[in-house]
Amino acid sequence: MHASVWRYLICTMTKIKCSCGYMIYDQSDSLSYRAYFIADQDRYDFHEATENKTFEQMIMAGAAYFQEMFQCNSCGSLLLLRRDKEQALFFRPEHKEKSMGVLESYRGKKWPGNLYAVFREGAGHINWNTNIERGFREHMPLDELRILYERKFTELHSEAALGSARLIVNDVTEHQYDQE
Ligand SMILES: [Zn+2]
Repeated sequence: MHASVWRYLICTMTKIKCSCGYMIYDQSDSLSYRAYFIADQDRYDFHEATENKTFEQMIMAGAAYFQEMFQCNSCGSLLLLRRDKEQALFFRPEHKEKSMGVLESYRGKKWPGNLYAVFREGAGHINWNTNIERGFREHMPLDELRILYERKFTELHSEAALGSARLIVNDVTEHQYDQE
């Protein structure tokens, strides 16, 4: 992952309830069940708006063109979120089993996962998203956050499931890992 992307990782802790009742969490970046799409009508405008820019400018300029979709991990429905619609739109698959995982990385099981922990204003949160496991915790004291980060890093790194990891305490990067 590009180093600058870490600055855009914000723990929003929102969740969406699927029509089947399952809670879909939107708690971090790089979720295997979320994708962004661009309308064909906007495609070339998007390329134009994002060319010859710095990485940060490109991210900002491109964001307006993306709409979000999620897949429910329970029933396989796709949920489309459009900024011009107040509610999520649900699309149920014809064949659930064949439809699971359709929003994963094109790299499939080779996708390098990430681990991200941040402590700020007296509370910490941690997310890990990998092909073997994902999870999150929030409202953590600093000592517990450091212990959990170290444990998760050791576990996931030994399984070769990590592409990158960060531990950021009060805006200081205490630990950083990027796969070669
Ligand atoms: Zn569902």
